[in-house]
Order: sequence, then structure tokens, then C-alpha cells
Amino acid sequence: YMSEMIMAEVTGAQLIAEALKSQNVEHMFGIVGVPIIEVAMAAQAAGIKYVGMRNEQAACYAASAIGYLTGWPAVCLVVSGPGLIHALGGMANANMNCWPVIVIGGSSDRNQETTGAFQEFPQAVRSSIYGRPGASYIDIAGDMVNAKIDRASVRFVSCCPAPPVSQADSREITQAVRLLKAARRPLIIVGKGAAYARAETEVRELVEVTGIPFLPTPMGKGVLPDDHPNCVAAARSRALLQADVIVLLGARLNWILHFGFPPRFSPHVKIIQVDLCAEELSNNVRAASALLGDIRAVVRQSLALQSTLPMNYYTAFHHISELLPKDCIIVSEGANTMDIGRTMLLNYLPRHRLDAGTFGTMGVGPGFAIAAAVLEQTQKSTQRVVCIEGDSAFGFSGMEVETICVHNIKLVLFALLINNNGIYSGVDPETWKEMEKMGDMTTIAPPVTLLPEARYEQVMSAFGGRGYLVQTVEELRSALQESLKNTQAPSLLNVLIDPASDRKQQEFPWLTRSNL
Ligand code: ADP
Ligand code: MG
Repeated sequence: YMSEMIMAEVTGAQLIAEALKSQNVEHMFGIVGVPIIEVAMAAQAAGIKYVGMRNEQAACYAASAIGYLTGWPAVCLVVSGPGLIHALGGMANANMNCWPVIVIGGSSDRNQETTGAFQEFPQAVRSSIYGRPGASYIDIAGDMVNAKIDRASVRFVSCCPAPPVSQADSREITQAVRLLKAARRPLIIVGKGAAYARAETEVRELVEVTGIPFLPTPMGKGVLPDDHPNCVAAARSRALLQADVIVLLGARLNWILHFGFPPRFSPHVKIIQVDLCAEELSNNVRAASALLGDIRAVVRQSLALQSTLPMNYYTAFHHISELLPKDCIIVSEGANTMDIGRTMLLNYLPRHRLDAGTFGTMGVGPGFAIAAAVLEQTQKSTQRVVCIEGDSAFGFSGMEVETICVHNIKLVLFALLINNNGIYSGVDPETWKEMEKMGDMTTIAPPVTLLPEARYEQVMSAFGGRGYLVQTVEELRSALQESLKNTQAPSLLNVLIDPASDRKQQEFPWLTRSNL
């Protein structure tokens, strides 16, 4: 009787409820019956919200949706036998969706059957959210629900920590970034795994830094807004079919994505797959690059690497087009610079674009820009004239920078795209050095090459304007913003881009007599 006096009794039901509470479980959905009525009551007493439903299947759907939306499991409470059977639909759905949920079923008393060990809650919480999220089941013997024990003998395991985050292998990341940079028609597919991973900030940065279009899966919708300029959902079939490299962020190549097979996908498509489930990698289509890890961590890894690598045309133009005012006058010349600029830089007003024109003349840019700026200045406008030149095109009339400075023509802004360090294409500085070692450059240097990474911006500063050397997206954005604001001086941005950068693959060749 001594022990009865000091014993603070606690029932199995209360222990279950308090253990769940100590694991930060906040919601319970279910249908009560013997023996789990007391579990629901105890849950409410412990501060867990209990929603009684009409079918265990719906209760399990509800609990798993909490798991998806919050990243932390809710409980589905059911009776044994039919209750559990009804919940199976919800458990299977949660498993297939990779959504965490904990199902607690009450079974018969222990003296009526042989049971295995009582499953611990931390294990259940952990197994539902660690690795690939999914359903986790706890079976509770009926007599344990109402059995009483001394509270002093109870020990709650502390709340399970959030799932550990892992990064992908760094060599794999390098390979993936190379692959992506070499892509001509890259596409990012955003799945519900990216939504579950709460990777919206990272995915947005990836899309905006690279300028790559994206396609959401049905539940990947909204990770980035559907009206984002890079969203190609309206051209889904075409985007899937034409992509040469696809970054798969938390989506599976299952029926929703036509298994990644032709005719919906190119037979040559290269998949960069990001998933935290190793078993998922290379499913249906062999991944060209398999990045095992958490989406947020892996995208951040690749962004860090991305910024150390040279920009390509599309990245540079994407950011230029975002920052240019709609009413600026765009002068454009060059080979790839002009071609790609025609699709990437938008005009909104008539007579606001001047380029190489009918005759395909190179070297017209600075003269055109000076004329446009003189007119703007006469009209007391502060509208900038933006001259976007390839490096070879700039060479034809680059000395007109002196004309701009000597006549105090302030409104001109040059953005030079050192496309390919050459005419159409060039080589990188390392290759150039190798060639120099090999001998006489007049016999070795390909006729299309220009001096790699020449410091054209110094031409502008030589005459008193502002010159910027731009190598990264951040430098491009800040230099462009600064130059657009500065209506008191002309500027020249020397934008170094990847010498291997090229136009995306063209659908039609040039029209010539032979292919007419
Ligand atoms: P959808 O229906 O949008 O195509 P799926 O359910 O097929 O999406 O794929 C989601 C994928 O996301 C699953 O393979 C899952 O393993 C993965 N996943 C879930 N969370 C993460 C995460 N944090 N990091 C990486 N992959 C994740
Ligand atoms: Mg060039």
C-alpha cells in the first residue's frame, strides 16, 4: 500500500498521447472504437488536435497531407481489422507520394495473441520523415491502452531531430554543372519533392541565374509562380520533347512524366536527377548525372559552382533584359550577340532597335548609338541608348568611344559580350597560351579567334567614361544598374562569357538556293 500512496498513475493511452506530444505531433485524424477511444481522449488532453472522420481512408489522407504541408507527421488513429484495412488506401497513397504519416492501430489485448515488441514512437516519427518520407505504422495492444503504470517509471524519448540534410558528391555536381552549361535546350522540372523540401528560394535562384525555363508537375505548381516568365507549362509537350538536358528536381519519371520515354521525350535527353532516395535514381531513364541529396542543399551546391563558371549568352541576356527599361533604345550588332539578342531582348516601341540591318554591316553600332543619343539629348530625354556588341563587331568602330567622350554624349551604354573571344567562336585563355607555346601564331591561331579576355572596358576608361569588367551574374547586374542610373557618363561593360557558348540549335538552316 505504500507504493499505491506515492504512485502517480498514468495509462497507456496517456503515455501514447504524451509521447506523441513530446515528438511535436500536433494533429490526429481518425475514427475511434475499442480500444483506442481513450487514446483520442488522451491526445486531446495532451493538446493534440483530434479530428474524428467518417472513414479511415479519408482520415489517413488528411493526416498525410499535414505531413506534406508541414514536413512533420500527423497521426491517423484507427481500430484494428477493418479500421486498419480502410487506412491502407491512405497509407499506400502517402507512401507513393513520399509523404510522412503515422498510423496507430489498436489491436486485441496481448493475452489474445502473440505480438512482437511494442514499437517506439521516436522510431515511428523518424522513419516517417527520414530518408524518403512515407507511412509508418504502430500497432498497440488493446490492454496496453488502459493499463496503468507508475509515471515515475516512464521515460519519454526527446523529440526526434529534423531529418539530416545531405549534399551530393562534389564531382557529380561539377559534372552536372558542365552538362547544364553545354546544354542547348535545357529544362528544369519542378516536382512535389521540391515543394516538400521547401526549396522555393533555391529553385527560383537556379531558374533566374541560369535563365533556364521550367515546367512544374501538377503538385510542383506554385514552387515558383505559374506566371513566372520562365514557366513553360503552356508549351509542356514541346518543352519536354525538345529539351536536351533536363534537371529533375524532386519528381519521378513515372506516368506523370510519361516515364521519360520517347515520343514524349527526346531519345537523347540527358537527365540530371536530384533525389534523396538512392533507389529512385536512374529509374526508367539512366541519369546522365545522379545527384543524391536534399534538393535545397544540392541546388545550393550547384549554384555556388555555377557562379564561378563563365556565363553563357542566355544567362547574360536574361539579366540584361530584366534590367533594361522598356523604352530604352537598343543598338545591336555582332554574330551570335545580335542573333540571340534578337530573341532575348524585347522591344516595346517602334524605331527603338537599330542593328546590322539589311546589309549585315558590322561596325554600325557606335555610329547608330551616337546618333540616337544626340537626338535624345536634344529632346532633353535621359533615356539611355544601350549598345550591345559582340567583341568582333566592337572592333570595327570601337574608337568611336573617343567621339562619345569628346562630345560629352552621356547617354550611351555599351554592353560588350565577349562571345567566344572571337568572330563566331574563340578559345579560352589556357588554350591560347598553349597555342602560343606551339609556335608562330600566324600559322597556328584559327582565323576566327581574337585575343581571349581582352580588357575592352579600358578603352572607355581611357577616355574618361566608366569601364566595368564583368564576369559573374552579380557583377553584371550591379554594373548594369549602376550604369543605367548614371546619366552623367557613358559606360562600357566588358562581359566575359564562356568561349564555348553558342546559339541554341536552330530548327531551320539558312535559306539558300540549294535548300529552297
Ligand atoms: P511529382 O508527382 O511532382 O512528379 P514525385 O512524387 O514523383 O513528384 O517525386 C518526388 C520525389 O522527390 C521523390 O522521388 C522523393 O524521393 C523526392 N524528394 C522528396 N523530398 C526530397 C528532398 N528534400 N530532397 C530531394 N528529393 C526529395
Ligand atoms: Mg565575338
